[in-house]
Amino acid sequence: MGIVCARIDKGAIRVKYEVINRGDQVSAELATKFHQLAADEQLIHDPVEPDIVVSIGGDGTLLNAFHQYIDRIDHTAFVGIHTGHLGFYADWKPEELSDLVRCMGRETSLEDKIVKYPLAHVQITNEQDTQSFLALNECTLRGFESTLVAQLRVNDEDFEMFRGDGICISTPSGSTAYNKSLNGALIHPSLETIQIAEIASINNRVYRTLGSSMVLPRHHHCDIYPRAGRNIVLTVDHLNVDIGNFRSIRCQVAERKVRFVRFRPFPFWNRVKEAFIGDLLE
Ligand code: NAP
Ligand code: MN
Repeated sequence: MGIVCARIDKGAIRVKYEVINRGDQVSAELATKFHQLAADEQLIHDPVEPDIVVSIGGDGTLLNAFHQYIDRIDHTAFVGIHTGHLGFYADWKPEELSDLVRCMGRETSLEDKIVKYPLAHVQITNEQDTQSFLALNECTLRGFESTLVAQLRVNDEDFEMFRGDGICISTPSGSTAYNKSLNGALIHPSLETIQIAEIASINNRVYRTLGSSMVLPRHHHCDIYPRAGRNIVLTVDHLNVDIGNFRSIRCQVAERKVRFVRFRPFPFWNRVKEAFIGDLLE
């Protein structure tokens, strides 16, 4: 894939950056190399207020980077280099490291290189207060040591009583992760949606759930009221959230978005094809 990056030395902005790596030897060595090349391009290493966070590792590494910089996602953009298989967030190859640094060093305006993807807003309400989280991939609710029994309400109307292993609420860019294992649809990240997918629902003559996943647009919301007295595990991306006893969870498309720097095109459906189909069609 050719790198489209104009060679403009005059008027280039000095990009502030940070590098986060997975911690394995290959990723750590690439991170060291990145810092050396970045110094040559006069980029500024600024772990506190970076314009760009470069994640070296896998998609999981980028999820980590996202949550590490969650308080400044309106100002920081992400870019990922994969040291294993192609990632959905980590779509630069290690061989392209110096091309990436060069693009960052010769940048005249970052804003027109930014793509924004939707996030899921998750609000957890207990007796005292409400806590909010943002998910880049998904939020899951699962029964722990017993079946999850929960009332689902969509836009303040009763929808169904869910019984099964759990519920997964994913973003469009997270639709290729856990959601895909649940047979959910892959959603293009230009669509501002969340998808609700079932994890092993119980369906028989007594219990009934929809059985298909549902895609909600912006301004719709889904509330989940788990039956009291059962143990529940809540995850936001790779994180387990310890919330104690809570009454309900509300999920909706977040107002805020995640920003990625896009120095060259790599369309979502091409990434889907490369990751899941490969060369088998040739
Ligand atoms: P992990 O166990 O290493 O992740 C599982 C796999 O999901 C890895 O291959 C990871 O890629 C990949 N992945 C992460 N985000 C993706 C995305 N947006 N599109 C396609 N693949 C993606 O744990 P992790 O690296 O910390 O990632 C946490 C994520 O794992 C969760 O957000 C959830 O989506 C996923 N997960 C999936 C299942 C399942 O499919 N049954 C179960 C639990 C969790 P890398 O190897 O590049 O990191
Ligand atoms: Mn991983």
